[in-house]
Amino acid sequence: MSKECALLHQMVRDLPRMKVGYNPAFVPANGIYFLFENGETAHGGDRIVRIGTHTGHGNLPKRIFEHLYTPNKDRSIFRKHIGRCLLRRDDNPFIKFWEIDLTKKADRERFAHQIDASEQNLVEKAVTDYMANAFSFSVISVEEKSDRLNLEGRLISTICQCDECHASPEWLGKWHADTHISFSGLWNIQGQKEKPLTLHELGGLSEQIKGG
Ligand SMILES: [Zn+2]
Repeated sequence: MSKECALLHQMVRDLPRMKVGYNPAFVPANGIYFLFENGETAHGGDRIVRIGTHTGHGNLPKRIFEHLYTPNKDRSIFRKHIGRCLLRRDDNPFIKFWEIDLTKKADRERFAHQIDASEQNLVEKAVTDYMANAFSFSVISVEEKSDRLNLEGRLISTICQCDECHASPEWLGKWHADTHISFSGLWNIQGQKEKPLTLHELGGLSEQIKGG
């Protein structure tokens, strides 16, 4: 599996890279994003640490912005993961409140008064700061939702099932309670058990990226 994963890393590292302050005009309306994180390396360069996509048509730019820079963990499982790890690392008891989803009105009415809003804002800010400092990303355009969802899982699995991709000893994700994250070195829980992409399929993907 390592050859496929090495080729995938090379392909994605050759794409334009964006980080905080990026121009959203360079993000296609529909596609898949790949995240890199400071200090994480594999296959002779930066290691892919998360792959994601979106369901709503035309929503890739909005989805990336929600994950990285919108201070609302309940809109982004990725932000929730980062917060969990920062809180566990710092032995911060606020983690029990961080786990509460306040999206539904009934839950807000039930729990909101128990949660120290200023503490919550501090954690959201810490997550946003971590996002801005640690992550950069690249994107590929994939128009069809079914293609995106299928490809997302197979890309994740290509990395997850590689023998050579490992998190660094200091990787933040090692603080995560779910071994899907802490063992795999990826900020992804779903999609790890799909069929990895073959070299032939990766060649086709590479041509598609260059053509698009
Ligand atoms: Zn690998």
